[in-house]
Amino acid sequence: MPKLDFLEQEIRKIKENGLYVPIKSIQSAQGAWVTIEGAKILNLCSNNYLGLANDPKLREKVRQTLNEFGVGAGGARTICGTMSLHRELEQKIAHFKRRESALVFCSGVHANVGIIPLIAGEGDVILTDELNHGSIIDGCRLSQAKKVIFPHKDLKALHNALKMNKNARRRLIVTDGVFSMDGDIAPLNEIVELGEKYDAIVMVDDAHGEGVLGDHGRGIADHFGLHDRVDIEMGTFSKAFGVVGGFICGSAALVEYLSQTAKTFLLATASSAIDIAACIAAVEIVEKSDNLVRKLWENTRYFKDGMRDLDFDVGASETPIIPIILRDTKIAQEFEKRLFEEKVLTRAITYPTVPKDQARLRVIISAAHRREDLDFALGKFKKLGMRRSY
Ligand SMILES: *Cc1c(COP(=O)(O)O)cnc(C)c1O
Repeated sequence: MPKLDFLEQEIRKIKENGLYVPIKSIQSAQGAWVTIEGAKILNLCSNNYLGLANDPKLREKVRQTLNEFGVGAGGARTICGTMSLHRELEQKIAHFKRRESALVFCSGVHANVGIIPLIAGEGDVILTDELNHGSIIDGCRLSQAKKVIFPHKDLKALHNALKMNKNARRRLIVTDGVFSMDGDIAPLNEIVELGEKYDAIVMVDDAHGEGVLGDHGRGIADHFGLHDRVDIEMGTFSKAFGVVGGFICGSAALVEYLSQTAKTFLLATASSAIDIAACIAAVEIVEKSDNLVRKLWENTRYFKDGMRDLDFDVGASETPIIPIILRDTKIAQEFEKRLFEEKVLTRAITYPTVPKDQARLRVIISAAHRREDLDFALGKFKKLGMRRSY
């Protein structure tokens, strides 16, 4: 097709810039170990923080639900796609997050992209951290509001921007709770205080905080004891909860308004009953016991200490997301390749996702890892780290 010939050139450019990502297929269930190209590989890059993606209780719940409800939802949520299960999940997640109400979307991306343009529009200002997730950036782009991108976690800059924009109709501060490339935590307590002082709405994306931070993994608002002081909490079922789907929680008015106006809610066919049932089972497990969350943190501490003992730079990580900062792009890419040959799956993260001299491998620890799995990984890092100047 000659009209699309430019695509081949674009693909060549991506490859020349070293940004092409070969997509590996997993031939097994998610877990500490996965099968790739027929070989068992230790998985150090999934967001399956609590190991729930292949949990027997979730599987059983899905089996029962499948018999009763089948697979497809048959329509968008407002037309005929809302099943009793969707409402049940919304009540369960609102209760878990200790908020009044919740609304489930098909994914976290749907939630962010749908919400932001409705909360801030023409005459308003959005203040957004420079390292926020791409779906927040897209949500901001869809809004008619003025955007102010403040340097990462820079409260002084945020404070100044709030002062400068105090005459705008509305101000919306939006931040990731846990930043996905560095594993550091937003200073949400101070952001909330600024929000209260300058009458700004605060929205947090808790994708990497749920199931990880706070009591039983209730997330970043719980971690800081903020709850009702955060106006909008966005979350996802695709990470620690091990399934798929996004949500928003906060006041009943917020949820009711979004259910009538958010395009990504109104236009997309509802999630299937089996996905929703699996999410319900996941929330029930985490609500009932914090064993998995404890195990996750125990594993995280063990691995991080081990990497520090081997003299690796784990950056600003405060969570199970652990960047292994190698600085040089080529070294990071070569390290990823060699680790894979040694049966360890990690991902090199390079420019432009991170600054040019900040190339890294990103490791994500899970409660599914056993001590011997972590020792296996540390052993491989030790072996390859000896020859860090490839
Ligand atoms: C993964 C992620 C999302 C998107 O969630 P999905 O449910 O996977 O669409 C949004 N924000 C952040 C910070 C994320 O890490």
